[in-house]
Amino acid sequence: MPTYEYKCLECDEVFEEFQKITDPPITRCKRCSGQVKRLISGGSGLLFKGTGFYITDYRSDSYKKEASRDKPPTETAKKSDDKKTTEKKEKSEAKTN
Ligand SMILES: [Zn+2]
Repeated sequence: MPTYEYKCLECDEVFEEFQKITDPPITRCKRCSGQVKRLISGGSGLLFKGTGFYITDYRSDSYKKEASRDKPPTETAKKSDDKKTTEKKEKSEAKTN
């Protein structure tokens, strides 16, 4: 449930209200019943959740990239290893000759 911050335009009173998104916004000050304006609060749980989701998404994407980037070097290493084995075989054959 997000926290909404309101500021009274009459007495400058600032107060927070836990509200459902579907709840109608508060329009009257609790202290003087004057007009209030809803402030965009940075400390709302909703905003934090959104950021966390973004980070998770980014991480999994970079992990995928990292994983696919790991494959080619492994293949190259295997190939060069095969080459080495062949070279060794050829050398040992040459020695025997
Ligand atoms: Zn007020």
